[in-house]
Amino acid sequence: MTESVRVLLRNASLPDGRHGTLGVDANGRIVELITNTDDVEAAARGGATIVEINGRLVLPALAEPHAHLDKALTADVAPNPTGDLRGAIDAWILAESSGMFDHTSMVERVRRSLEMLLLSGVTFVRSHINVGGAIGIAYLLAAQEAASRFRHLMDIEFVALIHMPMSGPGSEVNLAALDAAIDAGVDIIGGCPHLEPDAQACIDAVFERAERHGRAIDLHVDETLDPTVLTLELLAERAQRSSIGVTASHCVSLSMIDSASRARVINAVARAGMSIVALPQTNLFLQGRDHPIATPRGLTPALPLIAEGVNVAAGADNVQDPFNLVGRSDPLETASLMVMAGHVLPDSAFSMVSSAVRSMASRPSAGTNRGDIADLIAVPVGSIREAIAQAPVDRLVIRGGQVVAERTTTQHIGTR
Ligand SMILES: [Zn+2]
Repeated sequence: MTESVRVLLRNASLPDGRHGTLGVDANGRIVELITNTDDVEAAARGGATIVEINGRLVLPALAEPHAHLDKALTADVAPNPTGDLRGAIDAWILAESSGMFDHTSMVERVRRSLEMLLLSGVTFVRSHINVGGAIGIAYLLAAQEAASRFRHLMDIEFVALIHMPMSGPGSEVNLAALDAAIDAGVDIIGGCPHLEPDAQACIDAVFERAERHGRAIDLHVDETLDPTVLTLELLAERAQRSSIGVTASHCVSLSMIDSASRARVINAVARAGMSIVALPQTNLFLQGRDHPIATPRGLTPALPLIAEGVNVAAGADNVQDPFNLVGRSDPLETASLMVMAGHVLPDSAFSMVSSAVRSMASRPSAGTNRGDIADLIAVPVGSIREAIAQAPVDRLVIRGGQVVAERTTTQHIGTR
């Protein structure tokens, strides 16, 4: 087997306790874990490149299923005076109408955001981008321009987050922008059916375009604690009649309905083969403000969805913008919140920010098993739990067996 090895990730530790050198072939896929030093040396003599892992823990690279790169890092240029959703919307509208988000600054912010994600160990990003209304596809074009500089470093796909409404009076300009976004190569169609005047018409419009143009769907769904708002069930029923990939992000009201109704909706989601994305940062920041007593967490109910076999990923959503003033563009922060606020165990939480994201996006599996894409991170910790707990700054980021980023720190403790 070692004759097909082109890269040697030397002295790696795996979460199951094994140690050795990971061999990667010319296609960037794992060949095997080599434990015999003679075989490692033979592969090196055969011309394989050596990457020193120095005993660090090697894990699947991280993945971000739900970013808003057009909004990220605007918390200071679009200050949210009240810190709540109304303040965020007002801040965004004021900044946008003041011309704060011109093409050049948008490209630069998206570039910085992608850099932060890459340095955190992210090799796959899905980002929603506002499309429609007065801005048309301007933000999408800026995001695509920034992303083009990272094509050799990470996989990036964009969702056209369509301005409301998508049906009835006023929808023409938004549907025209959606068509323009599709022409511009947008990967996925998005929207917010629970905020639309006609949720079913919105869902129908999205599926019509998606099926006509062969695009996947990723909708913001039921981002509210109001249990009477339940468009997830409409979406699941429509998704059962389609073969395209469908993702629903947020699904907060699912945590507020009675258990029998919840079981019914989750069963429909499972039968539709949909993916669900939990977004703890923004939901914890924005939800529950009208409930000063016994404040609900406002999170996607991840555990019952996983128990029913639904693919559940987790993302950061807003990062340092008016909708969430903090955030580090680090999926290990998201995983930590899924453990603390979502009651998910660490191994499962890590899957939610790695393998589940790639599964959502129909991407090949990344990891250390034979045949996996060698998109990996090496971190100076002993376990997945410790990686989430410490979120070490030091990270070596590998894509297809090649080092694409590295972040290191120096530490010093004074002596008396
Ligand atoms: Zn979002």
